[in-house]
Amino acid sequence: MSDAVPQTGGCQCGAVRYRFTAPFIEVSLCHCRMCQKATGGLFGAFAGGFRDDFEITRGTLSLFRSSDSVERGFCSACGTPLTFARVGGKRISVTLGSLDHPEAFPPTEQAGWTGHLAFVGALAELPNVPVIEDVAPDLARSIRATNHQHPDHDTADWPSRN
Ligand SMILES: [Zn+2]
Ligand SMILES: [Zn+2]
Repeated sequence: MSDAVPQTGGCQCGAVRYRFTAPFIEVSLCHCRMCQKATGGLFGAFAGGFRDDFEITRGTLSLFRSSDSVERGFCSACGTPLTFARVGGKRISVTLGSLDHPEAFPPTEQAGWTGHLAFVGALAELPNVPVIEDVAPDLARSIRATNHQHPDHDTADWPSRN
């Protein structure tokens, strides 16, 4: 277990951090309209397990009930969508992109395909535009120099600046 990828993550600003202490039991996408809206993305992407194996290690999760039976957690300081759970349920899921290592947890199934955005299936075929470092190196430098995003690992004293 010591060489396993840590199942930690958190919001963009670092005010809220979480971890799972047991392997995920589900990694999935959801194309329903509520997941599109709640994540501000093209679909929801979640890794989930049991609430008993989940803990908030820093800060406080804010909750929005998107229906009477579902609550979605987020950071009230920076707005990052973080969790999805049935009210009173035994399980909880975290947004895949909020994990420190989303690349280690590929989705194995998807739900809500009837609500999917028609162009989702063709995303890999889109042409690539030049990276910002090539097009606007000054802007790229400025972003790097003033980056307020929490790093992809737990920290002892974040947020400590400002
Ligand atoms: Zn935050
Ligand atoms: Zn959904």
